[in-house]
Amino acid sequence: MTRAVVTGAAGFIGSHLCAHLLAAGDTVLGIDVLTDYYDPALKERNLRDLIPHPSFTFHRVDLLEAALEPLVDGADVVYHLAGQPGVRPSWGKDFELYARRNVLASQRLLEAVRDRPLRKFVYASSSSVYGDAPAIPTGESVCPRPLTPYGVTKLSAEHLCEVYRITLGLPAVSLRLFSVYGPRQRPDMALARLIEAALTGRPFPLYGSGEQTRDFTYVHDVVTAMREAACSSFTGVANLGGDAPVSMKHAIAAVERLVGPVNLDPRPSSRGEARHTAADIALAARAFGYRPRTELDDGLAAMADQSVIDLARQPESGSTGPRAMWRGAT
Ligand code: NAD
Repeated sequence: MTRAVVTGAAGFIGSHLCAHLLAAGDTVLGIDVLTDYYDPALKERNLRDLIPHPSFTFHRVDLLEAALEPLVDGADVVYHLAGQPGVRPSWGKDFELYARRNVLASQRLLEAVRDRPLRKFVYASSSSVYGDAPAIPTGESVCPRPLTPYGVTKLSAEHLCEVYRITLGLPAVSLRLFSVYGPRQRPDMALARLIEAALTGRPFPLYGSGEQTRDFTYVHDVVTAMREAACSSFTGVANLGGDAPVSMKHAIAAVERLVGPVNLDPRPSSRGEARHTAADIALAARAFGYRPRTELDDGLAAMADQSVIDLARQPESGSTGPRAMWRGAT
């Protein structure tokens, strides 16, 4: 039996990871403070199916303040997903939040585990460490040059994991995640906003020409790979991408086919937005058998199903309009 600790357990990816670990027979201690980066009620919803599970315990604490040693005591694997996400808001005065929640919180957690017999410390790093990479698809040997303050904080925490690995022998893995999507995706992310726009008729702000490409990666493929990495002997840094990059125009067309027309609101490109992202996943495939299995259309359909349920729960959502055109709506 594996005893896992998951930070960021109430978040989008963290809640899927907890469900996956529990289904695989692990016991899970979840940690999350439920920050207000987006509506904490959504995070409570993410926890709803986890809380009753007999092998799940949850601690609503802040990694920056809590005594962490008792929480990681006896853990075999620590999955560190807690952090302040979002690229655009990381400029300006909110940078302090990014530095605290992504860098300082990670350093506190690494200190708490450094002398323990952990089997693995798995860190959720990001494709944003690459910025506009000189090679597409991008391999891990490319020198990371983030273009946003968010990317700088993710790279700093990744470097910390590498320092604890190389200098102190901590068996750490940093997985660079590429645009993760799926049911319960964070409401600020592009595909969640796109599906919501198609369902409600509200405009979708499209930054740039729509020719920018993204390597969308389905959340179940990501959490499966996180556990596979934890069970393997691999340590170091590896990409996790979907292996099928598409342009935003292509993603918009896919959502329109599935859900209905999208009312586009064209905006200039956003500062620091990479033009293309695409992961070379050869290392993850070799090291722990990674293979993304979910096609974009299938993943989007699962997301749209969830969004229909969420919208139906909102009192102001009527039963007419584009929502009625969703072919999965019953
Ligand atoms: P999310 O915001 O849904 O989840 C992060 C969770 O961390 C939140 O529930 C938040 O309340 C919690 N948290 C933040 N600071 C905390 C603290 N100090 N103490 C305790 N809890 C804290 O985000 P997500 O999309 O699920 O992302 C999870 C991780 O994966 C993040 O570290 C993010 O940087 C990384 N990542 C995500 C993506 C993506 O496409 N979603 C891509 C690359 C990397």
